[in-house]
Amino acid sequence: MSTQARIPSLDLSGPVEALWPELLGAVEKVLRSAHYILGPEVAAFEEEVARFLGTRHAVSCNSGTDALVLALRAVGVGPGDEVITTPFTFFATPEAVSNVGARPVFVDIDPDTFNLDPRLVDAAVTSRTRAIIPVHLFGRPCDMAGVLGAAARHGLRVVEDCAQAFGARYHGKPVGTLGHAGCFSFFPTKNLSGFGDGGLLATDDEGLAQTARMLRVHGSRRKYHNEAVGCNSRLDELQAALLRVKLPRVAAWNEARVRAARNYQGLLGGDGLLVPPEISDGHVFNQYTVRMRSRSLDRDRVRARLGDEGIDTMVYYPVPCHRLKVYGQSHAEVICPEAELAASEVLSLPLWPGMDAEVQAQVASTLHRILREG
Ligand SMILES: *Cc1c(COP(=O)(O)O)cnc(C)c1O
Repeated sequence: MSTQARIPSLDLSGPVEALWPELLGAVEKVLRSAHYILGPEVAAFEEEVARFLGTRHAVSCNSGTDALVLALRAVGVGPGDEVITTPFTFFATPEAVSNVGARPVFVDIDPDTFNLDPRLVDAAVTSRTRAIIPVHLFGRPCDMAGVLGAAARHGLRVVEDCAQAFGARYHGKPVGTLGHAGCFSFFPTKNLSGFGDGGLLATDDEGLAQTARMLRVHGSRRKYHNEAVGCNSRLDELQAALLRVKLPRVAAWNEARVRAARNYQGLLGGDGLLVPPEISDGHVFNQYTVRMRSRSLDRDRVRARLGDEGIDTMVYYPVPCHRLKVYGQSHAEVICPEAELAASEVLSLPLWPGMDAEVQAQVASTLHRILREG
């Protein structure tokens, strides 16, 4: 057993230490303002995110999950509708679809990108299909030309799940601005990470933004004059104030993630037993996810051995959504072999902005050795 400290899969302490006085100042300002819900910090944060993304509207809310629910409701998805999405995502994506009363319809992924394969959309469209949710998984933009093309052919709404991709770009354009709405999460592990839950919906559509704003405060535009059954889903003033401190740094942090990914690429690229992720344009590496090349390599065993050596890794995601217990019966007929294979082969290695190159080298050399032990 090594005496060195464990290597975590994610180290959130860097920005907290570096920005401590500013973060503390932001907290003090809010505490003294006695304005805690939908006040000036939320308004300023929404304006700053809209500017960062280049969208006309940004509507913050309680979580990325709620952003998806609000977006789906605002684009008119409801009971009886179908929404096409990927099975290789966090459960929140199809859960939002189910929570608005619609049915998630899973199409398989492109094994090279882990993202929804738009070539499979046409065959999945029925008379009930209303929308597509592409997910920019691990921070890698989905093939949006393909998604938008399919949406245009069938008259579908496009709600982007950008929870893992704040600041990612598709052909130079920020993700979340390509479809009708883009949904972001500020959960602590995301690229723009808060100190608790938080989310946001971005859109250029005025009506859609207004509907989302109305729904997040119990379906009211005017207090006590409720016009729809909405929810209570607001970003706190405290979170907004803290996120405002971090927002101006997120582009640099994303660049640091890409640098760390390039470094891994150099260390792991030559290892024939695994496939490192492609450093594609606009990718922001929320996760650095490799896959085992050989089916004879037991990913879970490799992961356990790394753990024994003090290296924490993650598996996003061990079970594709259509195979989760919750959808087991309703989606028993779904066939997505690429998603199932990916779920059994992926391993996300430690990565965070500013990660030490020596620590990365240690991860890589340990992984090389474990793979060769068989
Ligand atoms: C994190 C995440 C969500 C949900 O965001 P929360 O803020 O945790 O609700 C949705 N989709 C994906 C792909 C995610 O990674």
